[in-house]
Amino acid sequence: MSDELIGLDDIFRARRDVANRVRRTPLVRSESLTAALAAPVHLKLEHHQITGSFKLRGATNAIANLTRRQREAGVVGVSTGNHGRGLAHAASAAGVRCVVCMSRLVPENKVEAIRALGADVRIVGDSQDEAQVEVDRLVVEEGMTVLPPFDHRDVIAGQGTLGLEIVEDLPEVDTVLVPLSGGGLIAGIALAVKAARPAARLVGITMERGAAMIESVRAGAPVAVEETASLADSLGGGIGLDNQYTFAIVRDLVDDFVLVSEDDIANAMRHAYFEERQVIEGGAAVGIAALVSSAIVDPGVTVAVLSGCNVAMDLHARVIAGENPDLASE
Ligand SMILES: *Cc1c(COP(=O)(O)O)cnc(C)c1O
Repeated sequence: MSDELIGLDDIFRARRDVANRVRRTPLVRSESLTAALAAPVHLKLEHHQITGSFKLRGATNAIANLTRRQREAGVVGVSTGNHGRGLAHAASAAGVRCVVCMSRLVPENKVEAIRALGADVRIVGDSQDEAQVEVDRLVVEEGMTVLPPFDHRDVIAGQGTLGLEIVEDLPEVDTVLVPLSGGGLIAGIALAVKAARPAARLVGITMERGAAMIESVRAGAPVAVEETASLADSLGGGIGLDNQYTFAIVRDLVDDFVLVSEDDIANAMRHAYFEERQVIEGGAAVGIAALVSSAIVDPGVTVAVLSGCNVAMDLHARVIAGENPDLASE
């Protein structure tokens, strides 16, 4: 069984290894969603995490578990988003060299954000594939270690520390709503929550545009899906056709999957802002989107994980002003 590949003991060890380097984020009750759903709804404010997303947990744990030789050679990644930020910060906090490779097409503000967090940014070529060639070179010639965003034991165990916090703060939880892309976040949370409360329901939520994990679970094996620009940009990307861990854990432990539309995501970002006073990115809004679009029936004691806040503020302002942007046609 896949869930025996990573156990609760790995998550407790991760908690010890990331202590003092990641924030324990608050769990707060949402009065507006509690009234709307007639069920107690709580929000896990993980967008208040250092670097603005939970990715810091997995990256910090993966770096803490490098061998001495790996630490000395450093780590490398290709993400320009939340994983890149988490990795850059975690490496710099641990005094480990970190290279993030990206293509020339990545906007300057994203390049600067990763550089400001302490990474050595290397601009190579005109595509992600060309950036990958440089990654492979750094691995072969300089002995660096690639840290992937989700399909890695220590990354999953690190994300699982968020699940421990949920069951400690709310032992009676019935339903946990988790944004889903590659599945590292929900795999870690599911392992932690189901160990403490086997009856709890884990729901993975993603956008209609490019639901790679959900399509893969339906197909019975990892599949590639076509990608379209979405407000939930941090949920884009595939799960890897040679997926080692997250596919099997998600297939075995996640109870339900929900797809939300671009309009649902925009509504949820507005809900978070006006009703909860929270600025969240589209990918973090899908749990609220599922609740306000009535996709979740009779959830009982509920937690929605707000996974990140790294949205371009001009885009956020447009959504708050009432626009439902269609990023695929911009
Ligand atoms: C990466 C990310 C997710 C999805 O996490 P996976 O582990 O890939 O499923 C959700 N929300 C935000 C903000 C993210 O950065």
